[in-house]
Amino acid sequence: MSKIVVVGGGAAGLELVTRLGRSFGRKAKHEIVLVEPSSHHYWKPRLHEIAAGTFDAELDAVSYLQHSACNDYQYIQASMAGLDRAAKTLQLRDTRGLEFLMQYDYLVIAVGAVSNDFKTPGVSEHCLFLDSSEQAQSAWQQINPLLSMEGKHRISIVGAGATGVELAAELAKVSDKLKRYRHGAELEITLIEASERVLPAGPACMSEKVQKALSKQGITVRTNTRVQRAEEGKLVTAEGESITADVQVWAAGIKCAEWLTQLDGLETNRLNQLKVGANLQSTLDSRIFVLGDSAECPQPDGSFVPPRAQAANQAAGHLAQQFKRLLKGKAMKPFIFNDGGMVIAVGHDYAVGALMNDKVVLKGRFVRNLYDTIFRLHQRVLFGWGRVTALVVLKRIKCALNPYYKGNLS
Ligand SMILES: Cc1cc2nc3c(=O)[nH]c(=O)nc-3n(C[C@H](O)[C@H](O)[C@H](O)COP(=O)(O)OP(=O)(O)OC[C@H]3O[C@@H](n4cnc5c(N)ncnc54)[C@H](O)[C@@H]3O)c2cc1C
Repeated sequence: MSKIVVVGGGAAGLELVTRLGRSFGRKAKHEIVLVEPSSHHYWKPRLHEIAAGTFDAELDAVSYLQHSACNDYQYIQASMAGLDRAAKTLQLRDTRGLEFLMQYDYLVIAVGAVSNDFKTPGVSEHCLFLDSSEQAQSAWQQINPLLSMEGKHRISIVGAGATGVELAAELAKVSDKLKRYRHGAELEITLIEASERVLPAGPACMSEKVQKALSKQGITVRTNTRVQRAEEGKLVTAEGESITADVQVWAAGIKCAEWLTQLDGLETNRLNQLKVGANLQSTLDSRIFVLGDSAECPQPDGSFVPPRAQAANQAAGHLAQQFKRLLKGKAMKPFIFNDGGMVIAVGHDYAVGALMNDKVVLKGRFVRNLYDTIFRLHQRVLFGWGRVTALVVLKRIKCALNPYYKGNLS
């Protein structure tokens, strides 16, 4: 019997332990362990909904404890803090800060990435981040009081990638809905981007449509604007202009946590991502695999797998299959990312998508349904179609009975 330890229960890690638990844990063929510091799983591409107060945790958050019991893997609530490759031992820290060791036969690291502040002065002190559900909840705690106060309130969001665009549009929608409940309270949202277009990492054909949709929602989009420092209540640009705001969110770029560079000599790149070969094994240790945003995984055309939810899910499905081969002594196959396109939600009922290698750009309500489908596919792996169908029906009923804004407006 082998012990497979998966560190990080996000888009990649949770799908992997679910598949491995069902294949191996259920029949007690191999021991499957998930190490994750949080008690609940939230689908990261929806963290902006938590920050805007529109996320339904009752229906869409997953308790690791319950899920592990139903899917035959062990859940340890702890963070990874170190690694001893020779002893095949992980150093873990529990929620009280106590450290302990755990043995593994195979280790999978899937701890995701965080925002990159590019060492911009003042950002860590004066800006909010959306890298975890806890951070998204604390953003909501700062935004919620603004919604209850009369007058105009300003929110600045730095970075017009998927996170920044989706947050700006969701907040604009909430502000718009709010006018029906409380006249006089309004959010003025400014989206700031250093590049010449929104979604700089996405296809150019999408950027124009997304920018148009954002402007239509009353969001001020400032491209070619580089923030040089953040201060209490204001961002200062490279040209010396001050952009004042009640709440400032930093959503520009990604990098991995610093501790990944100190894992017993494992190779990392300049974003602190761990380097892996084509079959997701780390370049220096064939018993260690890396998945999702924390991996720099090469592709046959010389590019690298992008840090996207879709790529994390595909890699998890692939590795689950490869473990079956590996544990039977068969050779593993390389992971090739199949890019199904990019879909960005611009508010609650509109999305823009670039499909078929960016040849087709679609927009509208039905594309928003496609965006939701990506999340439902993730849930399908976690629960199966039966439960997903029940969740969709329940959500429809709740939406029909309640306005979707669930803040403290009574
Ligand atoms: C607001 C937002 C919107 C986004 N929108 C999109 C989108 O529209 N489309 C898209 O493709 N992508 C989007 N993304 C990116 C997408 O969410 C990520 O690419 C994807 O979640 C990566 O999956 P992952 O499993 O690598 O990491 P994650 O999903 O981030 O999971 C990492 C897990 O590791 C855990 N962890 C962290 N540190 C430790 C530790 N020391 N020990 C143990 N566990 C640890 C974390 O708690 C977390 O559960 C968005 C991201 C954000 C933040």
